[in-house]
Amino acid sequence: LLITFEGIDGSGKTTQASRLAAAIGPGRAILTKEPGGTPVGKTLRSMLLDPDLKIDPKAELLLFLADRAQHVQTLIRPHLEDGSIVIVDRFIDATVAYQGFGLGHPLELIASIHQRILEGLLPDRTFLFDIDPQNARDRISRRGDPKTSVENRSEEFFQRVRNGYLQTAEDHPGRFRVIDALLPQDEIAGIILADLQSLEAG
Ligand code: C5P
Ligand code: MG
Repeated sequence: LLITFEGIDGSGKTTQASRLAAAIGPGRAILTKEPGGTPVGKTLRSMLLDPDLKIDPKAELLLFLADRAQHVQTLIRPHLEDGSIVIVDRFIDATVAYQGFGLGHPLELIASIHQRILEGLLPDRTFLFDIDPQNARDRISRRGDPKTSVENRSEEFFQRVRNGYLQTAEDHPGRFRVIDALLPQDEIAGIILADLQSLEAG
């Protein structure tokens, strides 16, 4: 099973992804993330988040996709073949939402590169953590760590990203579950576990 967690920065997906991994247990679940799930990805991530680099938007798109190609090929696919439940903190829909809806890159271009990278692989379930960008910003500030270059983008940018995610979820209702990110953490964890139990039961 491939399970992905999506949402704008500050939506709480990282917290819930690690809770789910802990609930399933390290023997059965692999928790990984994008960007930065592999050694190559870690190098790409440090470039992508460096505010001094001023990466061109077209280069940014390709760097996120390079991270994904390496991740799918060297980590995600092998673990799925071993029968693990692979939990990914951000995946294909993040590129559609951030670089497609956020930056304005053509969605057909992203879809076509994804086809080449994924070769038929798709998440079995995607949890989208939906939150208003203002609420998300407050949560990030409370987290206290220094903001990355992307977290500093405008509220309008994050509004487009949020809408892009919601649009994508509407287009793929079978794969997506949209979760109100303002619900209590325990309640969200319960919703996710119950959903996955019914998914596994078929
Ligand atoms: O999810 P995580 O915090 O690890 O992501 C690192 C940064 O990269 C975040 O600020 C996120 O908004 C950004 N990002 C992006 N486009 C993506 C994936 C992540 O701008 N496709
Ligand atoms: Mg996070």
